[in-house]
Amino acid sequence: MPVEPIYNNQEPFPVETPEDVARLVDLLVPAADDDPLSRLLGDHFSLLAATHPEWFTPYRELVLTERLESFNGNFGDFRILFGGASDGCVEHLLGQLRDGWKTWPGWGLASIGTEAAMSALADWVRAGGERGDLEDLGVWVPPTGPAQYRFPLERKAVFLRKFDDPAELSTVDNPVGLPLAEVLRDPEKSPVTWHYVSLRVDQLPGMATWPVPRVHLVGPRANWGWELTAAFDEDGRYRDEVARLDSAPDAEEEGYLIGDEQYGGNHGAVTLRPYDGDLVYCNGHIQLTPDVVGTAGGPPLGVGRTPHCPACERLMFHVASVEHHVRDYGDGWRGLFVCEDCRLVTCNANGWN
Ligand SMILES: [Zn+2]
Repeated sequence: MPVEPIYNNQEPFPVETPEDVARLVDLLVPAADDDPLSRLLGDHFSLLAATHPEWFTPYRELVLTERLESFNGNFGDFRILFGGASDGCVEHLLGQLRDGWKTWPGWGLASIGTEAAMSALADWVRAGGERGDLEDLGVWVPPTGPAQYRFPLERKAVFLRKFDDPAELSTVDNPVGLPLAEVLRDPEKSPVTWHYVSLRVDQLPGMATWPVPRVHLVGPRANWGWELTAAFDEDGRYRDEVARLDSAPDAEEEGYLIGDEQYGGNHGAVTLRPYDGDLVYCNGHIQLTPDVVGTAGGPPLGVGRTPHCPACERLMFHVASVEHHVRDYGDGWRGLFVCEDCRLVTCNANGWN
């Protein structure tokens, strides 16, 4: 089954007909007092968002206004299932944010995406609402006009295939473990110490027109809690990299990281495949699917604060989020973002804040 229950006394429900979806929505009522059931249902809604989101359309209003507290899913699922809900829902959810941000009504309102919803979000922030919570979801409120999504609706699972022969790197679309000289103009002076993966821009959901074939996810010598911004030359190699670390690694951590650099890490390639019924949905994510290391497109996943473009300040566009397992170095999620106006790339890793 594509839904893997978190608790071993649970059985998944079928999600094969519109009637199955009606039953899932009915079960949100008892799930209000049953957190394990609520979470189990959430993974079914994640599967539904990937397979038959149109079957959920008749229930958008009911769930947003009466059953949201027991609804689970990640924000990408919210966006797909609740996108286009009525202005009545916008009013209802906005009313619940009058005293400040609350996760479920906030996510609900931010997922609707209609002109009314995006204007309501912008007004809410300009009236003093906390924009950081929205930005973590990939939603930007510009100085004027409605809120904007800084991610595409479409999501693709990132599958890793490892191989031993580095000569194979030149034959694949999305290589893992390139020599730094291939992705940096000046490796000797760069704060970049690690190549995770390079992704072909023509395979990335929603990617803007881009002057070079690939964007690179790279990182500095740190376990987590960093942000690295770069411009790039006509060959796509990064230049003028600037790294910001929450804190420098201690001597022991640094020793491990240098050891990884000397060892060299794995080589491989990733492929991007649509979210569908062949992935494993568990605990709000797809990471238990064999060989899946992350997601391209959709909102950022687990990478902490969504970065702002250092040149124009706009919230950056989310390209992909992958776990460090794509090529082991440091720990946790790594994000890849671009500013399509300034042609800058930012890679980041979650910190503790
Ligand atoms: Zn910019």
